[in-house]
Amino acid sequence: MITAEIIVVGSELLLGGRADTNSIFLAEMLAEQGIEARFKTVVGDDIEDICGVLAQASKRAKVVLVTGGLGPTVDDVTREAMSKLTETSLRLRPRALRSIQARFKVVGRTVTANQRRQAYLPSGADLLRNTTGTAPGFSLKWRKCRIFCLPGVSHEARAMFLDSVLPILVKEHLFGQGIESRSLQTFGLIEGVVDERIQGVVPEASGVQVGILASPLGVSVSLTRLPNANRFNAKIGNENRENFNVPLEEYLMNLSTKLQPFVFGLDGQPMEEIIGQALSKRGLTLAMAESCTGGLIGHRLTQVPGSSSYMDRGVVCYSNQAKMDLLGVTKNILQKHGAVSAPVAKAMAEGIRSRSGVDLGLSVTGIAGPGGGTPIKPVGLVYVALSIQGKTFTKEFRFQGDRNMVKLRASQGALDVLRRWLFGISIADDD
Ligand code: ATP
Ligand code: MG
Repeated sequence: MITAEIIVVGSELLLGGRADTNSIFLAEMLAEQGIEARFKTVVGDDIEDICGVLAQASKRAKVVLVTGGLGPTVDDVTREAMSKLTETSLRLRPRALRSIQARFKVVGRTVTANQRRQAYLPSGADLLRNTTGTAPGFSLKWRKCRIFCLPGVSHEARAMFLDSVLPILVKEHLFGQGIESRSLQTFGLIEGVVDERIQGVVPEASGVQVGILASPLGVSVSLTRLPNANRFNAKIGNENRENFNVPLEEYLMNLSTKLQPFVFGLDGQPMEEIIGQALSKRGLTLAMAESCTGGLIGHRLTQVPGSSSYMDRGVVCYSNQAKMDLLGVTKNILQKHGAVSAPVAKAMAEGIRSRSGVDLGLSVTGIAGPGGGTPIKPVGLVYVALSIQGKTFTKEFRFQGDRNMVKLRASQGALDVLRRWLFGISIADDD
């Protein structure tokens, strides 16, 4: 299998303030191409250090992907490090300079001396066009390794990988048989229970690795099969060899059966998208009344392109006064049950539905913490209600975690209530 390494350059990535997301994207892309990423290195903006990790990586891997340090400032030294490693000089590339000038012209600026630095590349390197930014990338063959240097800005690195790196990998036959992977996402079960429920579904001698990953939005189960899964291992009995030919789809569906009604999606599709598709298909409209989630549900739903066809409005009604003014929740209900209660959630959902004239009214009220909890109503207690014509469902959740986690989980809980109704699944968990 072809092996690769990823090097991300940038001192800011070592200071804790900024997360390295480029390598996540690149690792995913490599896996799709059947290229195995063996190491990932984060290195600061230092010529010696970059040169050191480049030298090591290029000895171990056939493909090295580097991002960052191609900009115009003095701390951008990837070009210098590459020229030092390969003992070549940096040469002005007129074509690179012209494309930088063209980009600047559009915004009425001229190229400064600093920015010209970006057009100096190691001689012998192939230029990689930057279609979404100024810093050109480049690629060169060093000993037995193909090294690609891409900009640090994420959308530039992504575009350059797709537009320029992939075609070179294909042209030079630097790809393998793709790693197969599938996943499903659940909401409402803890990791241990997911693990218990799926025991034995995927046989050990099948070449399939099962991964269980918990996040605030639920627990997902992934299935991965490497192309070189060792089906000819002497220890595997003949009766088990056929497991290597069972499609991942079949295992995935068997897992899904064991985990119903908690499975909400496949292959990373977010809950809001699944709900959006179902609402669109059925021509239903939705409005929300959000207390503890502060608009998060509305934000998530409106992240989906085309959401205007089903999303009508959302109100953030944090105070009791707002719940009375905007939704018509009565003082009596609020005083009798407290703002975090099933009757208030119900009144909120019914209020937003009748006031906006939509098909579905969704509400959420809860205690996000860290303060505000009592022994009877602890932090993490959340009520969700869904009002449809002639009926209102309510559901109580008790979430763990800090404020942010409770808000995320409450938004997911509310959307899950809606999903269950849309797909004709019981809203209660006891099935
Ligand atoms: P530019 O042309 O913008 O100067 P560059 O190649 O010099 O590109 P950097 O200066 O290293 O890139 O980084 C530009 C921006 O991209 C910075 O905001 C940086 O924090 C961010 N960035 C760099 N590397 C990564 C990474 N691995 N993941 C996510 N963001 C990154
Ligand atoms: Mg940088």
